[in-house]
Amino acid sequence: MPEKAYQRGLVWLRNDLRLADNTALYRAAKGCKAVAAIFIACPQTWRSHGDGDNVVAMRLRSLRQLQLSLEKKGVPLYFLELPTFPDVSGALAQIVDKLQVDAVFANAEYPVNELQRDQSVRQGLKTRGVPVEFSTDRTLIPPGSLTTGSGDGFKVFTPFKRAFIARHDNRGDGFAPLPAPRALGPDHMALWPDWIAVDGDHNLVRRIPDTVGDYGVAPGGDAQVLDWPAGEAAGLRLLKGFADNVDDYAQWRDFPARDNTSRLSPYLNCGAVSVRQCVQMALGQNDGRWQGASEGATTWLNELLWREFYQHLVVNFPRVCRHKPFKPETEQVPWSDRTQDFTRWCEGNTGVPIVDAAMRQLNQTGWMHNRLRMVVASFLTKNLLTDWRRGEGYFMQQLVDADFAANNGGWQWAASTGTDAAPYFRVFNPYSQSQRFDPDGAFIRRYVPELAHLSNKEIHCPPETAITQDLFSGEGYPPPICNVTESRKHAIEVFANLKS
Ligand code: FAD
Repeated sequence: MPEKAYQRGLVWLRNDLRLADNTALYRAAKGCKAVAAIFIACPQTWRSHGDGDNVVAMRLRSLRQLQLSLEKKGVPLYFLELPTFPDVSGALAQIVDKLQVDAVFANAEYPVNELQRDQSVRQGLKTRGVPVEFSTDRTLIPPGSLTTGSGDGFKVFTPFKRAFIARHDNRGDGFAPLPAPRALGPDHMALWPDWIAVDGDHNLVRRIPDTVGDYGVAPGGDAQVLDWPAGEAAGLRLLKGFADNVDDYAQWRDFPARDNTSRLSPYLNCGAVSVRQCVQMALGQNDGRWQGASEGATTWLNELLWREFYQHLVVNFPRVCRHKPFKPETEQVPWSDRTQDFTRWCEGNTGVPIVDAAMRQLNQTGWMHNRLRMVVASFLTKNLLTDWRRGEGYFMQQLVDADFAANNGGWQWAASTGTDAAPYFRVFNPYSQSQRFDPDGAFIRRYVPELAHLSNKEIHCPPETAITQDLFSGEGYPPPICNVTESRKHAIEVFANLKS
């Protein structure tokens, strides 16, 4: 793109809510004399995708912070609320006309509905002669661009990782982040109107509201997301702090009572921090290599590749966006319809301490440690033989980092309907996971205070004297919801009997 190819550019922000290393914003500022930004909230579609209050609150609070940073650069941020994705194309066409915009810039998003929305916007604006440029920004490389020898998308993580590293290690590109866009100057703000009317009573305004659709988003965020200060500065502070501890990551990342993971997922998901910024930090600690001298940085880079892998998977295998299992034969699993089991799992009231502690962490903070996400997902789908889609939906509703690709990938992996290379008889034993990764019960004690008095040995599998639940009131700690040995055996039989 030649310098200043356009007079007036519009940056359409989505889950990329940051100033630095934002490809669309950077390219707009480079190529246009004046730039405005827009964010379009579609609460009905967000609800139908299962987005819960926590993730939406994080998104909107990050947007507020970004508005202040953008205005300092001379870029106004407009807000528009429309019910659904299919409403976007028509509205953007009007906005482009009224604001006399010559080009639109956005960062690509990959789930099926997002792709359809973007395709329809591209078509709609093409007839007006306004180009739309979608950049690769949420992932390190464009999904679909890394394939097996036969040209297919990877179905298994390890070969994907090997191919990625073989292509990118030692190339010196390092996925260097882009700088924040240059300041356009305060007078640029005056080039844009304060608001404009868009058909159907949906005004484009410069104020980010406290509620969208039926999402009530208090100005400071709701109780759960207060644990997560919103915005780019907060995310970068976290990344900087984690850089000092990344060496410990390999050793301690599986222990939920310790704070050894980055906790960057809410920021990566709303885009307050970019994946390139994370990679740059980790490569910097690892001699510039994906597999270098720091075991911690190498392991962390591996996790960022898991994120990349699942983002690529939704493009290569879009059926996963339509509530379908990755492995078609697992559609036949006779899932249990015991709603009561599911409710007890959601509430953290299963009588299996590590599962209960994990679910209560989710319910109280909007986040759950990765090891525990695997444990509770395995427990729900294997021991309780409950459809993974119910667990996936509950996580979407609660998580402050809810992301379709990672969540769907994680659930299908745990349920053996997805990309796990290990066969279906991988079933986590929650008691041995608890003994191994919460050896002194510190995590259980934090979230299940009813059991805090038990010894380090007993706390993983409480003795009968600690089972105090009153049958009528439901008060006290319950007996285990199932026998994990028997239910494991049953799940394995069910999977073994599926016809391929
Ligand atoms: P770190 O350990 O510091 O890892 C750094 C980053 O790498 C994370 O922020 C995340 O972006 C990425 N990452 C790490 N592990 C994974 C993984 N297994 N899959 C994909 N990306 C990964 N992650 C989400 O961001 N959103 C979700 O909705 C989500 N749902 C999940 C559901 C299940 C059933 C499982 C098993 C995992 C899920 N994960 C999800 C992945 C992982 O649990 C979280 O990304 C991680 O716990 C976030 O904590 P962190 O930022 O401290 O991670």
